[in-house]
Amino acid sequence: MLSATGVAPELESCTTPLNGLEAEDGGTHWFGAPHAAFSTGDLDPGRPGEALGQMVPAGALQTALDRVAGETRGLDWRRGGRFSGMVTGPAGAELKLESGESLRAGLVAACDGIHSSVRNSLGIRTEGRDYGKSVFAADVALDRPHHGIARQLFTPEGPFATLPLPGNRANLAWYMKSGAAETLAKLPKAEIEAELNARFAAFAGQMTLDGPPLSYPLVMQIAETMVGPRTALLGDAARRINPLAGQGLNLGFKDAAALMDVMTEARETGLDPGSDVVLARYREWRRFDSAATAMAMDLIDRTFSNDNVLLKPLRGLALMAANRVAPLRRALARQASADQDHLPSLMR
Ligand SMILES: Cc1cc2nc3c(=O)[nH]c(=O)nc-3n(C[C@H](O)[C@H](O)[C@H](O)COP(=O)(O)OP(=O)(O)OC[C@H]3O[C@@H](n4cnc5c(N)ncnc54)[C@H](O)[C@@H]3O)c2cc1C
Repeated sequence: MLSATGVAPELESCTTPLNGLEAEDGGTHWFGAPHAAFSTGDLDPGRPGEALGQMVPAGALQTALDRVAGETRGLDWRRGGRFSGMVTGPAGAELKLESGESLRAGLVAACDGIHSSVRNSLGIRTEGRDYGKSVFAADVALDRPHHGIARQLFTPEGPFATLPLPGNRANLAWYMKSGAAETLAKLPKAEIEAELNARFAAFAGQMTLDGPPLSYPLVMQIAETMVGPRTALLGDAARRINPLAGQGLNLGFKDAAALMDVMTEARETGLDPGSDVVLARYREWRRFDSAATAMAMDLIDRTFSNDNVLLKPLRGLALMAANRVAPLRRALARQASADQDHLPSLMR
């Protein structure tokens, strides 16, 4: 999709191909630590050597998207304009910006994040779960090569993951109890490094901070519907999932590409792209993927983030099966790399 929209060339210098995924159960097991590993060979055999995914730093992606959007002919780009309210009617929507300006639109594509003001102004409720956890995140330099492999260690408190970045650096995410990630992120650099290395050097190698430490509360939130009058919700405005497998942004991209297909079809058949019937098609297309991915991430988090005596052998078996049963391996690798059927045209 990024290639099709002309954004990918801007990101070449900072993109790291994902050559493999490794997951290890860090709980205590009498039969050793079960693990699963996926490589590029688990994708379609007809596409040898194709990466499982691409690691792109969010800041670089945002800059590239902004630049391409700003240069796109026919697109009236009002960077920094903030939505403050809207009125919808049969002919369209009238949006108000905080600057006092008004805009008219046939369809509003609301991608204003987890606290979406557009969603709230339409009274669309959300359901979800507060995990009582936060994620500590930071870029680190590693003392050993990562070979483009993303690695995840499931501990009873939650996962610890390293995602490969250029130059033997990695982005790490450590799930902790609420408050602990926020406290850790505020400590001096040397104390953070001491804590990380004491817990995870054996798994990840020696780590040195290479960017500002951050913390995020961990929540799952799903809007009860992805559409309203003259409005489609996209990205985190529609759902915020557990970032466990790095699928949140991918879901948002699929929303955007699906909405484009639905609007194009509507135009071709003479329908109003912002009408209820067209929006219903978008909702039906995206609803299942959205809820299923949110639930799958939630299930994995619940299954692995504990020391339950009944769950431990089961999850050991699940990891062993993922490692040894070829069709299951292929299905999981394809799911993780967004290589699925029924993709919108921009993604094909
Ligand atoms: C710790 C963590 C790690 C993650 N890792 C990954 C990963 O590896 N891979 C992945 O795919 N996803 C990952 N995600 C998820 C990903 O970050 C989100 O799914 C993605 O950023 C959502 O994009 P969005 O555009 O919908 O929302 P956002 O990125 O939140 O953007 C919303 C935008 O709307 C703007 N806005 C808000 N209110 C208004 C208003 N009133 N008027 C105008 N503009 C407004 C904001 O300024 C912002 O620019 C991670 C998330 C977390 C928390």
